[in-house]
Amino acid sequence: MTTKLINFSKYSSFKIGESFEVSLLEDDFSDIQNYYLIGSCNNTLVGTNPPPLMMLSKKYDYIKMEDGFLKIGGATPSGKIASYCKKHNIANFEFVSHLPGKLGGLVFMNAGLKEYEIFNSLVSIKTTAGVKAKCQVAFGYRKTDITEPILEATFFLEYGFDETKVAMFKKMRSNQPSTPSAGSCFKNPENDYAGRLIEAVGLKGFMRGSMCFSEVHANFLVNNGCGKFEDAMWLIAEAKKRVKKEFDISLECEIVILHKD
Ligand SMILES: Cc1cc2nc3c(=O)[nH]c(=O)nc-3n(C[C@H](O)[C@H](O)[C@H](O)COP(=O)(O)OP(=O)(O)OC[C@H]3O[C@@H](n4cnc5c(N)ncnc54)[C@H](O)[C@@H]3O)c2cc1C
Repeated sequence: MTTKLINFSKYSSFKIGESFEVSLLEDDFSDIQNYYLIGSCNNTLVGTNPPPLMMLSKKYDYIKMEDGFLKIGGATPSGKIASYCKKHNIANFEFVSHLPGKLGGLVFMNAGLKEYEIFNSLVSIKTTAGVKAKCQVAFGYRKTDITEPILEATFFLEYGFDETKVAMFKKMRSNQPSTPSAGSCFKNPENDYAGRLIEAVGLKGFMRGSMCFSEVHANFLVNNGCGKFEDAMWLIAEAKKRVKKEFDISLECEIVILHKD
């Protein structure tokens, strides 16, 4: 596989990480088991010693309408999907205009906003192991059981791009910080909110180096400047420890941590 040097302090939404070689996945799927696949790292914290990394090549950055379905390549950025749908008056993808990531990452995480999730209009996925219908994939709140790289996903094609939804999603974002982060740090536990729990244990606005749980929304771990991986990890561990002690709730990370000890 050809490789590309990526500076993760620029590439990742957290703006944390050093430069590492990333292998580009094209057509040869024979030697991929030892690599960790990344998308655009909007949900990922890259450590100082990540596993070998790979990403889909530009070949998988496309959108096409075919036989009444919408087919989107795994490396297609969400902004491009939103623009395409607006231009062609396609419904159901308005929410991705405010959801950073590439198609593969969006599907793998079942990303969404409230009840609007990427799986809602999904028909099937194409992975390096073949095609799987939606009913063959287990999925839930910000999770799926997909184990292979997603090369493409097929969606129902419905018309009627809704500008009012775009405005609604923009408004939903207004209580979230614009400082670099990876979105929600923890998944919301059943019948509760991770942000409420973090605030209740005194960690809202708590700083460690340049990292802190945001004053704007406590479940957003943000980088106020030159944030370090170690400080992010310290805060994550501290939140888990305090919430467990005070509420007997085990917080589960929504962000993906790429680091080998
Ligand atoms: C400011 C901000 C706000 C956010 N708000 C939300 C929100 O409201 N709702 C929400 O759901 N998310 C939110 N997120 C998180 C993020 O937008 C999503 O998780 C998105 O799906 C990440 O896509 P990515 O390409 O960056 O994935 P990455 O961060 O690169 O990877 C995430 C996971 O997906 C896997 N993956 C990536 N590509 C593929 C592929 N082709 N095949 C198989 N697996 C793959 C990776 O292995 C990894 O496990 C937010 C992030 C930020 C920075």
